[in-house]
Amino acid sequence: MTDKQIKDDSYFMRQALKEACKAQEIMEVPVGAVVVRDNRIIAKGFNKCIALSDPTAHAEIVVLRKAAKKLNNYRLNDCLVYVTIEPCSMCAGALVNARIKRIIFGAFDLKAGACKSAFKIANSKKLNHKIEILGGKEKYLSIECAMLIQNFFKTKRQ
Ligand SMILES: [Zn+2]
Repeated sequence: MTDKQIKDDSYFMRQALKEACKAQEIMEVPVGAVVVRDNRIIAKGFNKCIALSDPTAHAEIVVLRKAAKKLNNYRLNDCLVYVTIEPCSMCAGALVNARIKRIIFGAFDLKAGACKSAFKIANSKKLNHKIEILGGKEKYLSIECAMLIQNFFKTKRQ
């Protein structure tokens, strides 16, 4: 990986983090995501389950819907998704259906993550599309992403 690519990954993850902060402002679990194609952001979004009374309104689903509408295509070929937390099984399934090329996640979700942690849906050999997966490292802002969500739950418990 070149220096330029590393800079780009952290840049796009920074944008996903900004989205996560917007979720926090409205007391939603702070997860944010962006969809990138040809090095440009085509959709941004954050978790809105409570605001929309919609259990499927995770950040990834929100951005997939926006990106698909923008491209007028249900297949998001050559698109990358940057998301602050490792996608869950529902989102990993949706990302596979959207034919996303690569997922870059910030922090691991050891309990429910479906890319590397609890399940391996996003690159399962059983499915006919496999997504490249990067994430869980400092260069993908794993610490900032994890801190945001940990602080959210800590404050909520108090
Ligand atoms: Zn999810």
